[in-house]
Order: sequence, then C-alpha cells, then structure tokens
Amino acid sequence: MKEKQVVTPFRSVDHQHSTCLNSVLVTAEHYCQQRGLKLTPLRRRVLELVWKTHEPVKAYDILQTLQAEKKGAAPPTVYRALDFLQQQGFVHKLESMNAYVGCGAPGQHHTSQFLICHICGVVAELDDYDIGELIGSKADSLGFKVSQLTIEIKGVCGSCQAA
Ligand SMILES: [Zn+2]
Ligand SMILES: [Zn+2]
Ligand SMILES: [Zn+2]
Repeated sequence: MKEKQVVTPFRSVDHQHSTCLNSVLVTAEHYCQQRGLKLTPLRRRVLELVWKTHEPVKAYDILQTLQAEKKGAAPPTVYRALDFLQQQGFVHKLESMNAYVGCGAPGQHHTSQFLICHICGVVAELDDYDIGELIGSKADSLGFKVSQLTIEIKGVCGSCQAA
C-alpha cells in the first residue's frame, strides 16, 4: 500500500522560504525541459507569484502585480499561464476560495487534501491514499465514478492555535 504522505507541510517557524521557492522554480524548469514544455518568463513569474507565500493567491492579485511590473500584462495571458501551471500540476486551484496555491509535488500523480487555516490563510497539502480509496468505494456503491478528488478542509493551524 502506498504511504500516506504530506505533500506540503505547514511552514515551520524556521522555514527558509527563499530556498523553498528556489527549489520550486528549479524543479519546474527541469520538469519542463524534460518534457519539451516551455516555461516562458511569464509562466515562471506567475509560478513565482503563486509561490510567494504558502497562502492561496487570487488570479486577480497576480494580474495586478504583473500589470504594475509591466504595462499591458493582459488578463487572458495571465489566465492562460495559470491554466498551464495547473495542468502541469505546479499549482492547484482551491475552488472554495477561488485561489491558487503551489504544489509541493509537481508532476507526481496524487490526490490532494488541503488543510486551510481560516485565520492566517496558510495551506498544507496531503496526499492520503486511504481517503481516496474510501471515497472511491463509497462513490462506487452509488454507481458514481469519481473524476476529481480534491478535498478542502477548513480549520486552524498549529501556530494560530498557539497564538
Ligand atoms: Zn516555503
Ligand atoms: Zn499537489
Ligand atoms: Zn493559521
């Protein structure tokens, strides 16, 4: 059986985000290179903006930042870049928040269970095989075939509970 795994943990107090962000970008470049995909400067910048923090980011905010940096960053190109990043698994969309969050395991097939802190907004991502199996079999008993299995769980993270 597959191990339960934490895809993206909650930030630790001593989390080095610049190192974290750097490795995300290096991984993305490597991934695209191997598959003959183009990580254009815009796609790279959008990925960087989604990963600016571990909190979900709205497409609108990304657009605002890009427009401030470079006049004429048109909404469709930004949305297309987000689509690309989502398709390649570099970012996930949190439907309940209509916002994007970076994935800690891009290119690796996984289901996602997101733990979302409603106080500070930080997100952790889990890939628990058992949860997927359980839901799959319950759905199956109703003759329902699951095509997307993303779960968004709201709550309070450890550091907010401590504060
Ligand atoms: Zn980080
Ligand atoms: Zn993921
Ligand atoms: Zn929190």
